[in-house]
Amino acid sequence: MAVAGAASDYIELLRTLALAIRPSTLRADKGETMTGMHEGGCLCGAVRYRVTGEPRTAFVCHCTFCQRSSGSAFQVLAFFPKGNVEFIGATPSTYEHQSPIHGRMLRPQFCARCGSRVGMTAQRASDFQLICGGSFDDPNWFRVQAHVFIDSAVDWMTFPPDVRCYAQHFMTEAGAKEQPLPPQSKAWSKADLSIGGGVLP
Ligand SMILES: [Zn+2]
Ligand SMILES: [Zn+2]
Repeated sequence: MAVAGAASDYIELLRTLALAIRPSTLRADKGETMTGMHEGGCLCGAVRYRVTGEPRTAFVCHCTFCQRSSGSAFQVLAFFPKGNVEFIGATPSTYEHQSPIHGRMLRPQFCARCGSRVGMTAQRASDFQLICGGSFDDPNWFRVQAHVFIDSAVDWMTFPPDVRCYAQHFMTEAGAKEQPLPPQSKAWSKADLSIGGGVLP
């Protein structure tokens, strides 16, 4: 299956998404150092990482891969240029999953000892190391900019009015920008917009 050609488009789209990242505040007591670095890791402490700078973008993904592989309703994923992430503890274990929909590889990274998911890499975003937002020592230090794959979100999920939402990916297979769902003035659920049941990633 064709996978080439979209890498630079992907990076450009990540740039366009990165409009509302909250400026970093220095809170050394919450896992941030004085040089703009943030740390995180797994539950048992064996796998640790350090990121430098802000994420290029961060979103909540409701796709079935994120649901199944995390055992939860969604994943929070923060995108960092690979050079801005350093693993400073045990090397995370990986599992390579080929999407049955688009054929590209997704590689979750987790602690071999406690099983906590700390990150992943994706073939389509090969320049990025994705960090699972809940694994930061302070999971509140960055803001998410979009919810994606709303089509497969669980029915009880309520979406905030101030975050862009996409029925599926924010980018088409061809690399074009997708249209977000219409903005809402208050918190909403799938039942309000009569969406859902679409093709899953
Ligand atoms: Zn662990
Ligand atoms: Zn996902």
